[in-house]
Parts: sequence; C-alpha cells; structure tokens
Amino acid sequence: MARVKNILGRGEPVSMQNLQYDFVTLASHQLRTPLSAIKWYTEIILKRSGPLTKKQRDYLMEISRSSERAINLVNDLLDVSRIQEGGIHLELRPLRIEKLVEESIDNYASMIQAGGVKIDFEIISGPLPIVETDPDKLKRVIGNLLSNAIKYTPRGGKILIILEKKGNNIAVMISDSGVGIPKTEQTRVFDKFFRSTNVLKLSSEGTGLGLYIVKSLVEIMGGKISFSSEEGKGTIFSFTLPLKI
Ligand code: ADP
Repeated sequence: MARVKNILGRGEPVSMQNLQYDFVTLASHQLRTPLSAIKWYTEIILKRSGPLTKKQRDYLMEISRSSERAINLVNDLLDVSRIQEGGIHLELRPLRIEKLVEESIDNYASMIQAGGVKIDFEIISGPLPIVETDPDKLKRVIGNLLSNAIKYTPRGGKILIILEKKGNNIAVMISDSGVGIPKTEQTRVFDKFFRSTNVLKLSSEGTGLGLYIVKSLVEIMGGKISFSSEEGKGTIFSFTLPLKI
C-alpha cells in the first residue's frame, strides 16, 4: 500500500491501482464538461445561426460527431472505473422489458436507417411478467448490444431481438447476420479494449469497452451472458435477467 493521499481528496491510504482508477475517474469527470460544451455550442450554431455554407456545415458536423465520440469514450471509462471499484449500485424498479426494448429500437432508429438493416422483435409466448431490475443499466446493456449488431451488420442485413420467459428469468437474444467474430479471437470478446481484426479493417468506430461493461452489468443484475458467432455469417448475444434479484 502506498501511503499517498487519494487524489480525489478522500485522504485514506490507497493502493497504486486505486490511484490509477481515481486518476481515470477524475480526468474523465473533468473532460466531460468541456466536451459537452463543445457539442452543445456546435449544435446551436448548426441549428440556430443564420445560413451556413456547405463547407461550414460539414466542418461543424464533424466537430459534433468527434465530440460525441469523445463523450462516449469518457462515459465508458467512467463506467469501467466504477465497475472496477465496485461502485455500481442498482436502483430497482418494476418494469416491462418489452417496452424498454421498443424504446431502445426507437432510440437507434436513425442508425438502423443509415445502416440499411432490417430489425424484427418477437416475444415468445408473451405477455411477459413484470421484471424488477435497474432500467438505466438494462437500457445500457440492450443499447450496446443493439448498436453493435447495427454497426457490424452490412447493408441489407437482418437483426432479430427475441424475449422469452425461461423459468425465473427473462432470456434476451439479439442476433444479427453481420460480419461475425473470428473463432481464434472469441475468448477475448469480453476483455477490455478488445476489437476483432475483421472489424478493425472496416474502420468502424469503437472503444472496445462496451462488451466488458455489458457483461459486468448483466452479472451485477444477477444474470449471465453468452454468445455464438461465425465470421461472415453473424453473431448471437444472449443474456438472462432474473425476474427478481
Ligand atoms: P466496440 O464496438 O466499441 O469496438 P465492444 O466492446 O462493444 O466495443 O465490442 C468489442 C468488439 O467485439 C467489437 O469491436 C467487435 O470486434 C466485436 N463485436 C461486438 N459485437 C459484435 C457483433 N454483433 N458482430 C460482430 N462483432 C462484434
């Protein structure tokens, strides 16, 4: 244990590893405000200022996209450090999971349209019972798996979301007909910063932190996650969620 003062000012002795987490947390918090300001003011110029030339509009859109990417990275880093410090707390509420899935599909409507993929949603032997879980964390999990399915499925591809009650759990399955994950890399899928070689060639954007966060959140919510994938054919991510924790 290093007898150094915690940089967040808590004052207790901390290990070098904790010091590293605190550094990431502090730096991420400090970055979030200016990055959000950049995105916010760029949007204002785009929407509310007078006429812009095409070049000016393109540059501003690029600033907006880049700041959003940076905000996503900062949010992912904050989540990772919270997970590693055991600082994730569940706020349980009764919810209809099918509604939350529909909301997630709506949230990604423009990405689905831009990606040229078709999405189907099925409930097997519905209506489903109410689940007591943390809606924000579940939204993060479903949003991440869904956005990956969209991102890694070429135009004309299909995505299917299936919900099913299985014993005391709800099983969620998100499958796609996308690029898949090479067999030799599949053991590393839930590792931090993992990005498969076939995806790196596509020059798609990503942090490689999403699935690490997804797996951690599913387990904190009392569930399990697994996947199967074949390169060039597609990927299926499945996770369970207990009806009550
Ligand atoms: P990111 O998408 O930001 O790279 P993730 O942690 O969400 O990070 O995913 C890690 C990697 O797993 C991706 O870069 C990609 O190689 C692979 N992957 C995840 N989901 C899919 C999918 N549905 N189809 C193909 N590959 C995927």
